[in-house]
Amino acid sequence: MDLIFEKSKAGRSAAEVAASDVPDVNVEKVIGKKYLREDLDLPEVAEVDLVRHYTNLSRRNFGVDLGFYPLGSCTMKYNPKVNENVAALPGFTGLHPYAADIFAQGNLELIFEMQKYLSSIFGMAEFTLQPAAGAHGELTGIMMIKKYFEKKNEKRQVILIPDTAHGTNPASGALCGFETVTLRSNSDGGVDIDHLMSLMTESVAGLMLTNPNTLGLFERNIEQVAKIVHEKGGLLYGDGANANAFLGKVRPGDLGFDVIQLNLHKTFSTPHGGGGPGSGPVGVSAMLVDYLPVPRIVKTADSLEWSEKYPDTIGRVRSFYGNFSVIVKAYTYIRSLGAEGLKHATEMAVLNANYIKEKLKPYFDLPYDRVCMHECVFSGSKQVTESGVHTTDIAKRLIDYGYHPPTIYFPLIVSEAIMIEPTETESLETLNTFCDAMIAIAKEAKENPQLVKDAPLTTPVCRLDEVLAARKPDVCWKRS
Ligand SMILES: *Cc1c(COP(=O)(O)O)cnc(C)c1O
Repeated sequence: MDLIFEKSKAGRSAAEVAASDVPDVNVEKVIGKKYLREDLDLPEVAEVDLVRHYTNLSRRNFGVDLGFYPLGSCTMKYNPKVNENVAALPGFTGLHPYAADIFAQGNLELIFEMQKYLSSIFGMAEFTLQPAAGAHGELTGIMMIKKYFEKKNEKRQVILIPDTAHGTNPASGALCGFETVTLRSNSDGGVDIDHLMSLMTESVAGLMLTNPNTLGLFERNIEQVAKIVHEKGGLLYGDGANANAFLGKVRPGDLGFDVIQLNLHKTFSTPHGGGGPGSGPVGVSAMLVDYLPVPRIVKTADSLEWSEKYPDTIGRVRSFYGNFSVIVKAYTYIRSLGAEGLKHATEMAVLNANYIKEKLKPYFDLPYDRVCMHECVFSGSKQVTESGVHTTDIAKRLIDYGYHPPTIYFPLIVSEAIMIEPTETESLETLNTFCDAMIAIAKEAKENPQLVKDAPLTTPVCRLDEVLAARKPDVCWKRS
């Protein structure tokens, strides 16, 4: 496909602009000569060619509206269109971010209610909606933990992080100046309690725990883990990116979590990745409320307003109110499903993942063979031994079958990992045809391994040299 620059013909234009009736000004004088260029090499195309160009390009993309997108841990949920309709209401889109509180009462009320909903769903004392994504929420949570110990005059330098954790966890700990120490998993895929006991000292500020963890497994000893951490004065941080696995079933606050970050763009069905920005609210127990970012919403007798008057706050972590339109979409999802609906969504997500797990178990290694939560993790090691076909080849071959590949090579403790998260909205037919494709690929790997190794064969660009593409990307087009 030609680039838009290659379609350019001098003099063509997508729009007719009327001649300017503004009196001549000396632009050179106003703007300065160095900013004025005559030689901008912009493409010149007619409107119809412009529309076709970008429509054709968009058809080479893949999204959750096009097909099954089982990207484990990333939770590519279907984005209900009602969320978009509500977020597009003029009262939400038209508000100036600097509007005075008094002109923004409806919007403030939505934020206030959303904080209350999240506090009640997750059993936390208070929530902030400022952070812009999951990793940003982690950073915010760890900053509060740091401030908490500073106020108590306790010097704690270490954060414990299980070997199954998302890479952002150690990054967030390190960014706040903590030393991160890896906590081993046991053969069951949960926290190794003995290892935790040996690491948990009074120099440990906290443990960052993902539950269900990135193996898609619920932490069986969670209350014991909380007790061990708390007994040494540490705090329990919850990475709640996978909260879609327990909505309405269990509340992290009741389990002993002191801080938890959510990913609205995963759990609450808002678009993400190429589809838009995220939102990473953080909930805290009563002990940490004073450290929440400012401004915070306060409810007076007759209105809602922002307040900065919290002396122990960690400060601001994001401009304005966070990613407001994402919050509106997630709010709509909560309101349209209700408490029972959220619980049902979780049950369906878990059922779908277990269905896939059981169907594919005869064909792929399943290193942790127990009931999973919202996702299941296979290993491609059987295929490696049998035919030299790797997980990456299986993932590429799935593209030929019309599916977005699952997450691969994560979590790191499973070699050749294939991490499948179907989400709650997929039908039995979709799950079945996906499993059929996986089974067909397992068969191809045995009978014609080269075919799988050469995949994808049906895409505009076939197998890339990924190292070269990452190290020496060639993304600059020059007119020849
Ligand atoms: C996605 C994810 C994150 C990071 O969230 P972002 O919104 O991508 O910053 C952190 N932890 C877990 C377990 C995740 O799945």
